[in-house]
Amino acid sequence: MSRKFFVGGNWKMNGSKKVADELLGNLVKGPLDPNVEVLIGVPAIYLDFVKEKAPCSIYVAAQNCYKTEKGAFTGEISPSMLKDIGIDWVILGHSERRQIFQESDTLIAEKVNHALESGLSVVACIGETLEEREAGQTEAVVAKQIKAIKDKICNWQNVVIAYEPVWAIGTGKTASPQQAQDVHKILRKWLADEVNETVAKTTRIIYGGSVTSSNCRELAKECDIDGFLVGGASLKPEFVEIVNANQ
Ligand code: PEP
Repeated sequence: MSRKFFVGGNWKMNGSKKVADELLGNLVKGPLDPNVEVLIGVPAIYLDFVKEKAPCSIYVAAQNCYKTEKGAFTGEISPSMLKDIGIDWVILGHSERRQIFQESDTLIAEKVNHALESGLSVVACIGETLEEREAGQTEAVVAKQIKAIKDKICNWQNVVIAYEPVWAIGTGKTASPQQAQDVHKILRKWLADEVNETVAKTTRIIYGGSVTSSNCRELAKECDIDGFLVGGASLKPEFVEIVNANQ
């Protein structure tokens, strides 16, 4: 069973209408490998603007959403609101949400479940800190994070897992292809053991953490790396080269 390569750009809290236009222009110019699914994670306030302008071959994603449909949750947005403006994807559990906004495994799992039930597809992020890696806890940490999600969902069809070691995000320190492959392999085995073989074989596990046009090709060669989630470099023209890492 082959898994289609998947590359997401996470713009984080960056940009403006002008910048969004430039980034979209760059993607339209491409050319982008047609065998790759491409997603851009856009600040909530620009979702509608970007969705109107993006070619339909590019998925436009929110970077967060809440776990219920509506109510007294000031400042939050719901999956049904995203669907209402034509957004079909959301990134959940990013390490910045976990660390800066104190989102727990449980809250993230509840958000993933509600997003899926509302018809969104989800990029679910997991990954260990440097302290955890140095303490030899990488496997236990990612297993705990993915288990929290598994306990709340029953269908993995619309889930992409992003393995993003926290120590590699925005630091310029990329995991080596071997380090990334090792964890991706562990995660795929975990899915086979704890969910089932089909889910293990079909679920995309993408890598994130200082991916650039210089390191993407080596990473893409690893058999369990099915694409990337890209922060900083998604705001630069080199994002096109990262999308095309397999060419
Ligand atoms: C990210 O924000 O998900 C990310 C991987 O960032 P960067 O590529 O800048 O490390």
